[in-house]
Amino acid sequence: MSKCKYVFVTGGVTSSLGKGIISASLAKLLQTRGYRVTIQKFDPYLNVDPGTMNPYEHGECYVTDDGAETDLDLGHYERFLNVPTSQANNVTTGRVYSTVIDNEREGKYLGKTVQIIPHVTDEIQRRMMILGESGDYDIVITELGGTVGDIESLPYVESVRQLKRKLGSDDSIVIHLTLIPYLAAAGELKTKPTQHSVQKLLEAGVQPDILVCRTEHKLTSEVRKKISLFCNVNQNAVIESIDVDTIYEVPLVMEREKLDRVVLSKLRLPSNQDANLDKWKRFLFRLEHPKTEVNIGLVGKYVELQDAYKSISEAFIHAGAENECKVNVTNIHSENINDDNVKERLKGLDGVLVAPGFGDRGIEGKITTIKYLRENDIPFFGICLGMQCAVIEFARNKLGLKGAHSTEMVKKSRHPVIDLMESQKDITLKGGTMRLGAYRCKLAKGSKSHQAYGKIMISERHRHRYEFNNAYLKDIEAAGLKAVGVNPDNKLVEVVEIPEHPFFVGVQYHPELKSTVDEPHPLFVRFIKAAMDESKKHKR
Ligand code: GLN
Repeated sequence: MSKCKYVFVTGGVTSSLGKGIISASLAKLLQTRGYRVTIQKFDPYLNVDPGTMNPYEHGECYVTDDGAETDLDLGHYERFLNVPTSQANNVTTGRVYSTVIDNEREGKYLGKTVQIIPHVTDEIQRRMMILGESGDYDIVITELGGTVGDIESLPYVESVRQLKRKLGSDDSIVIHLTLIPYLAAAGELKTKPTQHSVQKLLEAGVQPDILVCRTEHKLTSEVRKKISLFCNVNQNAVIESIDVDTIYEVPLVMEREKLDRVVLSKLRLPSNQDANLDKWKRFLFRLEHPKTEVNIGLVGKYVELQDAYKSISEAFIHAGAENECKVNVTNIHSENINDDNVKERLKGLDGVLVAPGFGDRGIEGKITTIKYLRENDIPFFGICLGMQCAVIEFARNKLGLKGAHSTEMVKKSRHPVIDLMESQKDITLKGGTMRLGAYRCKLAKGSKSHQAYGKIMISERHRHRYEFNNAYLKDIEAAGLKAVGVNPDNKLVEVVEIPEHPFFVGVQYHPELKSTVDEPHPLFVRFIKAAMDESKKHKR
């Protein structure tokens, strides 16, 4: 195929309508029809990337192979498409402005007044086209973060207007995602908010080609007609997006509504090859018809916020389906766990994942949890800070190193079993300076991790500053916590295990970021299996 085509996805009425899921679902349908598709997200905030925001602000920070700290929607893109994304797939206003201001200082606009239009909008458009111009894709879907009508979204909508004019209607379309609320008192679906939100787009010079209408109830043909008439879109381009139990059903809902067909016909692309969703449907079937169930505890400090551990929750779903097992996740606040209540708090759990995190809050609760799991042979899976806590716990309680800690929490720890790497010691800037992105790791033959992955050399993604302190490696290994995964290039410890324990695995990297529907992450699959064995013990 010669030319790349562009689909822009905007959102109206409210936030959280699921633009990311709609974009990923459309991309999935187009991918299964044989098109090469990618999705990029433009976020309207001034942070250069979400890496400096705390999870309460922004949910999880998703990290790509090339070490970009990005919006969590990129996680959905990868989970649905099973194709890696990169820095180019996520652009923020902060990044755009930073380039424009650098250009100005370099004299690239010499003599000109630098303005939002055309300089900022030109930079946005340049970035919107980068992936399309790479020749790697037939279709690029661009999701605009935020809600149409927000001040900060305006330069993006304006950029779409300009691009649409340049590219023409055969090569670019706009899908607007909107809400059709149901007023129980009137017993009616209401189209007015959608009309107003389309008017907002029209004021900015953008006519949407397709409306995807999020709704709790089926849209009657009357409602569809009304939306079509007032919003100036064909009736077949009014797509119903009804609430479903799992996000993984959305591609099937969109297929039923023929979203992919309408998109292809508007872009003048052939739709002769049908979407083949067999594999996807097999996954959904297993997800919806589990044979057993397990109870997993997620111990962390952002547990009250759903999105903070998004990729972990999704990885549990993939691993559950793979094992034909329903995974019930109980969130447990690490601040609320102590020596006196740990047994009670973890009662009935078949396995516990101790979550990643930063800073001191809740750290002792995590350490207490791990001690209990280790001593009682209950499956434990530690990720990043969770792994670091396992090392601290082991050093304190098995090696008798009183005060063992990470220098992140106690700068002058007597036993800094987790410490800064030399290369991190002089870093003062916070943004984008952690150990980020994909690193190789060599696994020890016969370890549980090796069995799970089925290979010796793996590559996983990182996002942390502190590391296992190799000065303690010999003693820790001698006491029974083995470093079974090591970075072959710099010898950093990436995976620890207790071989005698049913499942005691801590990883310095973030396996959850690489779990997809097509390829559930092997460690999650294995952890759930261990939890299933543990649950059988309870039943005996
Ligand atoms: N705070 C720890 C570090 O920076 C762990 C980070 C994490 O869990 N992602 O090393």
